Amino acid sequence: MRALTTVLALSLAIPGAVSGFSGNGRALYREAQIYLSPSSARGGQGESIRSMGIIDRLEKAAGLLKGAQGQATSPREEEALGKLLGRAYNQMGVEYHKQKDFSNAIWAEEQAIEYRGDTSAVFQMNLGAMYSDSGDYYNAARALERARELGGPPQFKDRIINNLVGAYIRDGQTRDPGSYQLATRVLEDELYNRGEDFNLLVMLGRTYRLEGEPQRALEAWDRARALKAFDPGMRKAYVGLQSSIAVKRDFVTTEARHFKIEFNDQTHGHLADKFLEMFEEAYDEVGLKFDAQWEGMEQVTISVYASTEFQSAVQIAWAGGVHQANRISLKVNPSWSDPIYRNLIFHEYAHHIVDFKAGGKSLPAWVQEGLAMHQEPKLAAKGFYKALGNAAVRNTLLPLSDLNGSFSRLPAEKVMLAYGQSYDFVRFLLGSNPVSSFVRLLTLRGQGVPISQAFEQSFSMSLADAEEAWRAWLGDRIAKSRARRVRQRTERQSAGQQRDGDEPTTRDIRQR
Ligand SMILES: [Zn+2]
Repeated sequence: MRALTTVLALSLAIPGAVSGFSGNGRALYREAQIYLSPSSARGGQGESIRSMGIIDRLEKAAGLLKGAQGQATSPREEEALGKLLGRAYNQMGVEYHKQKDFSNAIWAEEQAIEYRGDTSAVFQMNLGAMYSDSGDYYNAARALERARELGGPPQFKDRIINNLVGAYIRDGQTRDPGSYQLATRVLEDELYNRGEDFNLLVMLGRTYRLEGEPQRALEAWDRARALKAFDPGMRKAYVGLQSSIAVKRDFVTTEARHFKIEFNDQTHGHLADKFLEMFEEAYDEVGLKFDAQWEGMEQVTISVYASTEFQSAVQIAWAGGVHQANRISLKVNPSWSDPIYRNLIFHEYAHHIVDFKAGGKSLPAWVQEGLAMHQEPKLAAKGFYKALGNAAVRNTLLPLSDLNGSFSRLPAEKVMLAYGQSYDFVRFLLGSNPVSSFVRLLTLRGQGVPISQAFEQSFSMSLADAEEAWRAWLGDRIAKSRARRVRQRTERQSAGQQRDGDEPTTRDIRQR
């Protein structure tokens, strides 16, 4: 598991604005103070409070403060207690977050925001970090957008922007590639407001690259370079970007910077330019993600087997290509549309990169296929999710150990399921880990580390635990989808409409 995102605790002391109260409000408030800072308590009581767990203490204090708030005699007093409650819940969130109990951390932070009133950029920033560490980048981005809106102290601004851009990028990698664009927009906005800024421009170049806008990426990095010299790592990335753009401007028919292409049937040679361009895009995007771009990388030869008999029915990625050491074989149907070609090419190039990073060592098929599917720009996931949903409902999911060998050895009816499971399991892992965890896995594998050990070292949990957690996550989504469907059916029935089937739909499971 990667390092936790920083979250901030705030002082639990409050300026002495609380004095009125009716009834026993003052006593409750005083007692709460002891639970909040037990070092001030004396004698036996202090000792027993100090021996409590911090979350229990904060719970107790929050309960007392709520009691006191009920007895407040002025709005000012009520507000001061709300602030203190906010800080106590924030502290509780921080503690849960430390324990990696993200759902309780999120709950506590939401309480903090409710009691404090939604006016604290720090609380929203913390909430964003908690969602992010829980793998929910969509809600992380929402909280961080709110933090950005609230502004807050200048020293938090950069952190909010960094976390927000990071959340959008990871949302792009794991859920919706459209989020790359949102990251770009945040950075463009910020640059508009602040003026030129080295770090923002470097990030902007990265998000443009992820978006597939290399020319704009280069412009951003040129602006950054004008402010400050690049370090060697950035210089290398810059040169790589520059040369990949130069290649696209000046295309040769059958050979590009990183690829050479050959057709078994020259009548389809007109596809060469298009394919080379798509491979260069894959080189840029997939290579960037997997940290696999460098000068002097050996050229990859692509052999295209174009056959008009090749049925358009076999439009599933796995049937389309075979990858080997430095050669990729593509079987294509010349009547396919560009998005199908692009998916196929990104998929096969991902296999190539994954193989390369793992030094040619054997990998479980679920790693290969899951990662390759995640690189497809417009993966048609519907069929895979249908197979997955049906298997989950019928309790016929394949054990992960069945997904190690080539899927072509599975009975035909299990093939879609095997791909669906691989895709979803990788999606699960990418939800709480960066792509670099996979890069680490591949690198360790390349050093000869057995897969189970490499997995534990890269994801900080055993493969068996990960499989179990994934099954629970899937079960959870299925249960939610069922509940939703029951509700919808009831609504439809009361509206006098026809009922639908019981299987979870693709959309149901894909939804978080
Ligand atoms: Zn594949």
